[in-house]
Amino acid sequence: MCYKVVERYSVCKCIYFKHSIDPCSAYGQRGHAVQEKTVLVGYVCPRHSARGCSASPDAGRWPDSGYESSKSHR
Ligand SMILES: [Zn+2]
Ligand SMILES: [Zn+2]
Repeated sequence: MCYKVVERYSVCKCIYFKHSIDPCSAYGQRGHAVQEKTVLVGYVCPRHSARGCSASPDAGRWPDSGYESSKSHR
């Protein structure tokens, strides 16, 4: 049986990456099906994460402008 791996975002089920078919010796014969293997990745795609990187744990923090480090740098 041939396999085709399709990676999908686990949250919104959009396609993340489509791998090429991994053919077996019977590839291309009549009635020979290609088994699709779905691999989930633990993200939401950019189109469905409308609020930017809300899934990131650092998103809720105040942005570090680098003010402290630039002060000590001088
Ligand atoms: Zn096959
Ligand atoms: Zn999506």
